[in-house]
Amino acid sequence: MGRIRILPDQVANKIAAGEVVERPASVVKELLENSLDAGATDLRVEVEAGGRRLIRIVDDGCGMLRDDALLAFERHATSKLRDVKDLLSITTLGFRGEALPSIASVSRLLLETRAAEETTGTRIEIAGGRMLRCEEAALGGGTAITVRDLFYNIPARRKFLRTEPTELAHIASLVTHYSLAHPDKTFRLASGPQELLYVTPVGTMKERVYQVFGSQVLEELVDIGVRERELFIPPPSVPPSQGIAAYRTEAYRSEAGPDDDPPQRTFRLTGFFSRPQVQKGNRNSIFIFVNGRLIRDRLMLHALSSAYRNLIPGSTYPFALLFLGMDAEEVDVNVHPSKTEVRFRHGSFVHDFVRDTIRERLMESRPAPAFSQSPARTPVQPAAHLPYSEFSQMMEDEAPVAASMMVEAAAGPEASEATRRVAGTLPEFMLQPTRGPDPRLDFSAPPLEITPGPPPSGKLSRRLDMHGEFPADAIPAPEMSLSALSDLRPLGQIHESFIIAAGRDGLWIIDQHVAHERILFEQVLKQRAAGHVEMQRLLMPLILQLTPEQQIDYARIADELHASGFETEPFGNRTIAVKAAPAAVGAADLERVLFEILEIAEGELRGVSLDDVRRNICASIACRAAIKINMRLDAAKMEWLLRALAATDCPMSCPHGRPIAMHYGTREILKAFHRI
Ligand code: ADP
Ligand code: MG
Repeated sequence: MGRIRILPDQVANKIAAGEVVERPASVVKELLENSLDAGATDLRVEVEAGGRRLIRIVDDGCGMLRDDALLAFERHATSKLRDVKDLLSITTLGFRGEALPSIASVSRLLLETRAAEETTGTRIEIAGGRMLRCEEAALGGGTAITVRDLFYNIPARRKFLRTEPTELAHIASLVTHYSLAHPDKTFRLASGPQELLYVTPVGTMKERVYQVFGSQVLEELVDIGVRERELFIPPPSVPPSQGIAAYRTEAYRSEAGPDDDPPQRTFRLTGFFSRPQVQKGNRNSIFIFVNGRLIRDRLMLHALSSAYRNLIPGSTYPFALLFLGMDAEEVDVNVHPSKTEVRFRHGSFVHDFVRDTIRERLMESRPAPAFSQSPARTPVQPAAHLPYSEFSQMMEDEAPVAASMMVEAAAGPEASEATRRVAGTLPEFMLQPTRGPDPRLDFSAPPLEITPGPPPSGKLSRRLDMHGEFPADAIPAPEMSLSALSDLRPLGQIHESFIIAAGRDGLWIIDQHVAHERILFEQVLKQRAAGHVEMQRLLMPLILQLTPEQQIDYARIADELHASGFETEPFGNRTIAVKAAPAAVGAADLERVLFEILEIAEGELRGVSLDDVRRNICASIACRAAIKINMRLDAAKMEWLLRALAATDCPMSCPHGRPIAMHYGTREILKAFHRI
């Protein structure tokens, strides 16, 4: 007799459960997705003991016919796919037919369901994959699934579960985010007697964000609106090297005839993301939906952090709620059993679309941080800081870099380090000493705080409370924008480092060094793009001795250095001669700047694109050349600085992500003096 056996279904289901059912939140995810697929508009989730003792989901969806109810617990039984062709265009959240049998194999499960077409319902009880009961029952329409004692028959898995509050937080986070993806439906989540979330149908996503998070959070977010980008798909006859560009040319079109419109795909992005002053210590506040499915995707994470490049510090993350929509054929969802990963057919197109859209919206909104908006004071709530799946987080940290895209270091090892860091520890009003001449002032003193009125509460933390009706005035008025910088009146400096200015609406404090840094950064970038960086020849070439690593880094970025205005050439063994440098960099700083750039290049070798290296080189030059703190400026200089800052694309933060200007609004001043 041979040695290979086909495993009985019960064993196969338990194996599948290992992948599908990681923790109580994964059960909630599968069941919620089933209810949504069943067209439910009212979804109620009840849990006890963090879902370990009980998870019950009741929906008003289409219900199941008696025969289907039995079949649903067979392996690979699904109503959502017919043949392999359907796999290419999946529009439902489920399709693998694995969830119910998997969950039933590791718990005591009760299914109560009735389809509209049948007069009586069906009740089925299963424990550890064994059918205990199947009977007719008088039931209302829809489906209720109760899952008790998860992993009761797999003690090893049970041991891996975290504390009840942790498991509950994962569930809360999951239900919250599905509720955000479906503003037109009712969601309710209760843990024992405690109601954690209850939202009723509303017309817009914005209203749902308000229901869930409250108005303060809404104020800190930028609404993307609806942004679309078309992708023209080149026919096979166009050589790949010519790609889309050639395909779009007039010549091609006239040849192909006016009626032969190229096949095109529309990608749509909606959602919200935070203004740069909101900085999180990990990626747990980033939620990405692709065609309504909550996913974890490195490509999208990378697109998001590229959008914030030079706006927030590299080790911090924004809050983002992104909904990406595209034709079902454009995305393969059949990548992992828990369906949390996807593969895009046109990955780099999707990446660039998301990055550009967010960046454009960020630039348009030009928000100024107010004094009261201190991320350091953001209260930490459990649900706000938990990924909805630690497993997917882990995968994401370890997954190999997608071949088609360079994935930044921030999404890799650096990120996992950041995850360990507590959120909101960034000093907001503190100058981190940059390398270079030591500032005379001690800025490591406790950060300056000007907090009019009571401290803000509940900022961007996931407040699972209810906010009732959506009042018309809850939508924040247009933010005090940094465009106002152009008509500020400089009054003087504090510590010869910060410019104080009066504006139409209150008082402004501008950090002169980072303001100038931003101005120069954009100037250098523009010169660089136009191909003429102002250079200055050195009287004597500067000879630099490199370490072997620096030698390798140098070889990699030599062209980039040249394009940025550094004329260098190899000069013997591990030595280079610098003959010219960007005009902005003084001779005394040159050596330091070059070593700094080589250091950046070394860090970036982990897989960042040359474009990022380029931006970092520009940032280095700008930082070196910018006026320092502890420098007296006369009125004309201050005025020039404010005008030039107002004219930049992004006056809100310096290329390293530090804030440039703080605003103390008239309203806050009036409040502080008890005049309103
Ligand atoms: P999949 O969702 O991949 O099809 P599942 O094991 O999750 O697989 O579910 C099996 C089938 O059971 C589904 O295809 C669907 O027909 C049915 N089903 C599951 N949950 C519900 C529900 N809440 N309402 C109606 N039908 C359901
Ligand atoms: Mg399913």
